[in-house]
Amino acid sequence: MTVKSSIPRRKFDVVIVGAGGSGMRASLQLARAGLNVAVLSKVFPTRSHTVAAQGGIGASLGNMNEDNWHYHFYDTVKGSDWLGDQDAIEYMCREAPKVVYDLEHMGMPFDRNPDGTIYQRPFGGHTANYGEKAVERACAAADRTGHAMLHTLYQQNVKAKTSFFVEWMALDLIRDDAGDVVGVTALEMETGELYIMEAKTVMLATGGAGRIFAASTNAFINTGDGLGMAARAGIPLEDMEFWQFHPTGVAGAGVLLTEGCRGEGAILRNCNGERFMERYAPAYKDLAPRDYVSRCMDQEIKEGRGCGPNKDYINLDMTHLGADTIMKRLPSVFEIGHNFANVDITKEPIPVIPTIHYQMGGIPTNINGQVVTQNANNESVVVNGLYAVGECSCVSVHGANRLGTNSLLDLLVFGRAAGNHIVEFNQKNKEHKPLPANAADVTLARLARLEANQTGEYAQDVANDIRNTMQSHASVFRTQALMDEGVKQIAALRERVNNIGLKDNSKVFNTARIEALEVENLIEAAQATIVSAAARHESRGAHTVNDYGDTPEHPNGRNDQDWHKHTLWHKEGNKLTYKPVQMKPLTVDSIPLQTRTF
Ligand SMILES: Cc1cc2nc3c(=O)[nH]c(=O)nc-3n(C[C@H](O)[C@H](O)[C@H](O)COP(=O)(O)OP(=O)(O)OC[C@H]3O[C@@H](n4cnc5c(N)ncnc54)[C@H](O)[C@@H]3O)c2cc1C
Repeated sequence: MTVKSSIPRRKFDVVIVGAGGSGMRASLQLARAGLNVAVLSKVFPTRSHTVAAQGGIGASLGNMNEDNWHYHFYDTVKGSDWLGDQDAIEYMCREAPKVVYDLEHMGMPFDRNPDGTIYQRPFGGHTANYGEKAVERACAAADRTGHAMLHTLYQQNVKAKTSFFVEWMALDLIRDDAGDVVGVTALEMETGELYIMEAKTVMLATGGAGRIFAASTNAFINTGDGLGMAARAGIPLEDMEFWQFHPTGVAGAGVLLTEGCRGEGAILRNCNGERFMERYAPAYKDLAPRDYVSRCMDQEIKEGRGCGPNKDYINLDMTHLGADTIMKRLPSVFEIGHNFANVDITKEPIPVIPTIHYQMGGIPTNINGQVVTQNANNESVVVNGLYAVGECSCVSVHGANRLGTNSLLDLLVFGRAAGNHIVEFNQKNKEHKPLPANAADVTLARLARLEANQTGEYAQDVANDIRNTMQSHASVFRTQALMDEGVKQIAALRERVNNIGLKDNSKVFNTARIEALEVENLIEAAQATIVSAAARHESRGAHTVNDYGDTPEHPNGRNDQDWHKHTLWHKEGNKLTYKPVQMKPLTVDSIPLQTRTF
């Protein structure tokens, strides 16, 4: 073994990168089974972005109205604009009630109905009887569901003796000659020391990359590190052109107002006070899926019916809900209104605009959470030793557009499934594979390049330019010309990323070093997004392109003949390949391609 002996090493059965809902649901399964599991996080676990989730977890408990998983399955396939894989969607919707009851039994403080069952609220695109009427499916703890869920999972992990490495940043995957993943390199942020974390299995649970855009509801730590690590290790990224804009970010601030507001009855109004969604979506109204509501809002603003002096936002009106309901069901929204818009939402409407919120794409996996790549026959093959769960992964249950509440559900279902699968693997494989001699070389080269370049560019300047470029070239409404120009600009920005330098090379809590390393992940997520988007010559779900509008041949601009397939972006050569959408569910009949109606 010739791994540079100066680099300290730690050894675990499993290393999980990320302590959000997905990482901690998986680690809980592993720690309870007695595995030696380490969870790394850039921040204290309960500060992961899952804590900010407000609205709820989707599960067809049917506590308030008739519901079952078949309806949930149908809604999710339709919401995905038929790009979601139907086997994974069936699995998620069937498992949903189980994972919610698991949480309840762990002590999660859900809101309650008078009969003691879990309170559920309606959410966009969730219906009963295959689109007939809205259904209450979002299991909620007021508007702090993610907060309640993350704290519950953290407490259970402490009890199960999971080892947390807090303020540790994973930098690169370690693959051996056979291509198997055998560990990660990681920086202890406090000391600036580099470590090798050896493991039989590595799991990426690093969350979304929402910070590749300038205006985002995401936490500042959401820089797509898992995507960068995968891309650098030769693993393609799937469906990165599909980014969700949430209709109700506070105008000017970006902070999210949950769809739960509209679930509780809030209404979107234009400058004439008109409830314009009745015109666009007579059936779903304000609770149409997010991609559609965002586009309708944008349309209202474009046609001069925006609100305010510059006619550049839409009003979200909750005044008719009454102060009692607001304080009981939406207390954080009340606080956000006060703190970020200087508005008392019980008395006046609050200005909102569509804001980037969620990545539907990510690291390709199967329903066990195993990362997969494609072989020469375009069949999926597993990358041994590597799993991915949560927003950084693409299983794909969300396809071209995610329904609200299906992400927290995705974390729970696939976090648990991946955990169970690893436990099984571990029972058969008692030994670690040896580390390759060059285990830390990629990371050492990255660190050395930054340190050697004292006159290079400041990381934040490059990051801001990436964000502004993505905001202008890959926004709610896209045009082919804008995206093509974006491809060029992001390619030029990659050159600038290579020239980032560090003026201060000190080790202890050097946040400039951390930001510079994050920008190397931002650029992978940004380039994957813009290149995949510019190549997809159709409109589907959240990827709506002006050039590909509604025609009799291609309703809604969707072109199934040429584009009903998943994109794979490869860092090597900056190239794209495609793989088929899985239309066959596990046990039920498939839902054949249809035009999406609202
Ligand atoms: C404001 C807001 C509200 C939302 N509301 C809802 C909702 O009501 N319902 C719903 O279903 N979905 C909601 N979503 C979406 C959902 O919350 C997220 O998709 C989900 O929480 C992501 O969880 P995760 O486990 O994948 O990652 P996260 O919770 O983002 O956690 C990522 C973890 O990875 C760690 N990490 C990242 N990079 C590294 C690295 N290099 N080294 C070490 N650690 C690293 C971080 O420290 C963190 O612990 C919301 C999202 C936002 C932004």
